[in-house]
Amino acid sequence: MTGRILVINAGSSSIKYQLIDVATRRKLVTGLAERIGEETSVLTHGAHRVERRLADHEEGLKAVLAAFAEHGPPLDEVVAVGHRVVHGGSRFIQPTIIDERVERTIEELAPLAPLHNPPNLEGIRVARSAFPHLPHVAVFDTAFHATIPRHAATYAVPREWTAKYAVRRYGFHGISVAYVSRRAAELLGRPYGEVNSIVLHLGNGASATAVRGGRSIDTSMGITPLAGLVMGTRSGDIDPAIPGYLHRVAGLGIPEIDEALNKESGLLGLCGANDLRDVWRLADAGDENARLAMEMYAYRVRCYIGAYYAALGRVDAVVFTAGVGENDQRTRALAVEGLSRLGIEIDPVRNAAPAKEPRFISPEGAEVAVMVIPTDEELEIAVQTAACIAAGSA
Ligand code: ADP
Repeated sequence: MTGRILVINAGSSSIKYQLIDVATRRKLVTGLAERIGEETSVLTHGAHRVERRLADHEEGLKAVLAAFAEHGPPLDEVVAVGHRVVHGGSRFIQPTIIDERVERTIEELAPLAPLHNPPNLEGIRVARSAFPHLPHVAVFDTAFHATIPRHAATYAVPREWTAKYAVRRYGFHGISVAYVSRRAAELLGRPYGEVNSIVLHLGNGASATAVRGGRSIDTSMGITPLAGLVMGTRSGDIDPAIPGYLHRVAGLGIPEIDEALNKESGLLGLCGANDLRDVWRLADAGDENARLAMEMYAYRVRCYIGAYYAALGRVDAVVFTAGVGENDQRTRALAVEGLSRLGIEIDPVRNAAPAKEPRFISPEGAEVAVMVIPTDEELEIAVQTAACIAAGSA
């Protein structure tokens, strides 16, 4: 497929975008409209930056289009717009061409992702009215996990909850996991369908995913992105009885508890900092809470590696990606400590080598390749958008 794809990732107060030439995989421009709705918003378009108020997503996108008109590149070769959508529920398990009905369904799924789907949809609406003649494709973060078998996706709760309220494991970060697991197979020089990998996407949100031959078979996040690993501000796994217990002993209400588990827990709750760089600084200065936070963070990752090793039976690659996974050698080393019996080891020199490129950090000839692969969700959205359009017009 030739032509350019405009990728849009609309968050609650930002619009990230990239113009990508799919055939060459070249990024023609990367931009970000941020602090939308605040007093002063900022638009960064390639090397250009302007500060001005952008009241809402519509004004944000208008400013983006004006930046394209002023600084280029021209948008006339754009063949489609690819949109990131966080939650596709059970309805969307493939990239999907957007029409009114798809928009309505994304809206209906908002209760599953109240912070993410509404701004994603807003981005879609303003982009569709700005580019009415172009096909728009929704690429879902949950879709890659649609292959998770029922025994791993179902919660042991009353069947009615599952049937009536769609309570099940969906999983997130699927766009990133699809990209890095495929890259891992390429770097190993083996067919994607033959490689088993454990992908550790460690960013502000963090997840582990077991990928068997290009298909997700389990992932640590659940119906929402709160489950699994210890994250910046999210608790990850806890005893599900804790909310009920706190309600009884402390009189806390469900919305408060929900808020605290999402925004005041994780590393932030443990030691007052949510950025790993700050947590390490505190730990190095002797802060016991920060030290404990790092031990817990790494321990939880290690336990998921063990669990997914068992789920996969054979593991070819363990892949670190996203902000922490790509940049934090100490966390990587701590996370795989003691796993040499599983064939998982890190070479300290390779691990410490500063590089932005995908690379192996396991010793030469290791049984399991441990890799660092920078994720590229925008490129993955562009590739999936192009494939969706090509399939639709075939
Ligand atoms: P998001 O999940 O929002 O996409 P990122 O993948 O960009 O986030 O990850 C952001 C996080 O990565 C930061 O909060 C920080 O904890 C971590 N991070 C970024 N750079 C480094 C670094 N050099 N060392 C340790 N942690 C880092």
